[in-house]
Amino acid sequence: MKKRIWLSPPHMGRNELSFVQEAFDTNWIAPLGPNVDAFEKELSLLFNGNYVAAVNSGTAALHLALNLLNVSNGDEVICQTFTFAASANPVVYLGATPVFVDSEPDTWNMDPELLEKAIQDRLSLGKNIKAVVVVNLYGMPAKMEQILAVASKYSIPVIEDAAESLGSSINNIPCGTFGSVGVISFNGNKIITTSSGGVLISNNEDFILSAKHLATQAKDPGPFYQHSKIGYNYKMSNVLAGIGLGQLSVLNERIAARRDNYNRYFNYFSAWNQKGFNIEFQLEPAGYFSNRWLTCILIDPAKNKGIDIEPIRLIFEQNQIEVRSLWKPMHLQPVFSGMPCYLNGISDRLFDIGLCLPSGSSLTDEDFDRIFECFDMVFSKQ
Ligand SMILES: *Cc1c(COP(=O)(O)O)cnc(C)c1O
Repeated sequence: MKKRIWLSPPHMGRNELSFVQEAFDTNWIAPLGPNVDAFEKELSLLFNGNYVAAVNSGTAALHLALNLLNVSNGDEVICQTFTFAASANPVVYLGATPVFVDSEPDTWNMDPELLEKAIQDRLSLGKNIKAVVVVNLYGMPAKMEQILAVASKYSIPVIEDAAESLGSSINNIPCGTFGSVGVISFNGNKIITTSSGGVLISNNEDFILSAKHLATQAKDPGPFYQHSKIGYNYKMSNVLAGIGLGQLSVLNERIAARRDNYNRYFNYFSAWNQKGFNIEFQLEPAGYFSNRWLTCILIDPAKNKGIDIEPIRLIFEQNQIEVRSLWKPMHLQPVFSGMPCYLNGISDRLFDIGLCLPSGSSLTDEDFDRIFECFDMVFSKQ
């Protein structure tokens, strides 16, 4: 049986185990501890001195971010529809309603013009919009300048769901630092991982202090346990922060490897495009830098001799290679049916014709040979 090629498996570096060993040696098997402190400090440097709070998942970080912006029962939060459900679920945890906004075709992220239309329409209906959640999908930064301009025109804070875009930037400004609060995920499939983990980022120190308070059960200071607020158990484990410290030391290598993957795919498909196909990519606008967490392609059957993505996925499955559709938009999810949405057809198209390709930083030349052999079969048949 062939070795399975995964979409985005964890890729450990050289130092993770020594940090974990240190946690064992010093018996810091706890949430909080020196690894968590060091992890937060290094992340803070990476995010240009912004304040950070390490937590136990990206979803928890988003939940806390919405809390900090006082999202509660009856409020609305505008959210990118083309995303993973974790961008929107925490809105519902707080009793608020997600309002979904479609994407623009350049970065595949939230369309700033449609965002403004949605805001105007919700306001005309008397709704209370507490936040905008914008996502940098597959590592590609959204049109942040335009989105921030629209949001600030209506005084609505922006949460940047940068779960997939650690190391990405626009004009050298790091993703995660654009909004009032930014969120990164260290889940096992992300560009670096703590197995599960996340971080909140903000230039507002009070936000980060509040986030840490809420994440540790909201204990009031004092000799006994007193609580004035409902808290959560969201702190990052000191053991897992050790994995994170090791992973941070190889982040630049991981980004380089993922960008290299993208270039290999780009060159490969460009050769097919010269032979009459029209495979599309998620291109970087000028000044944009994507960590290329996942390489994704669009194969529109109308422009590619009738080729559909589902038969392609099956060929790869038979060959023990994982490829996957792009995110199914939230407005098409059964759980969000009936939620307000502002659509333009872009995310529907991306879902219908898009594929995520194996993009791990540990892919080998042999892995690429197997992947390209499968695509050779698909395209040479036409
Ligand atoms: C992974 C991811 C999350 C959630 O992060 P977890 O650490 O898995 O909870 C949120 N949003 C997006 C866009 C993601 O890809």
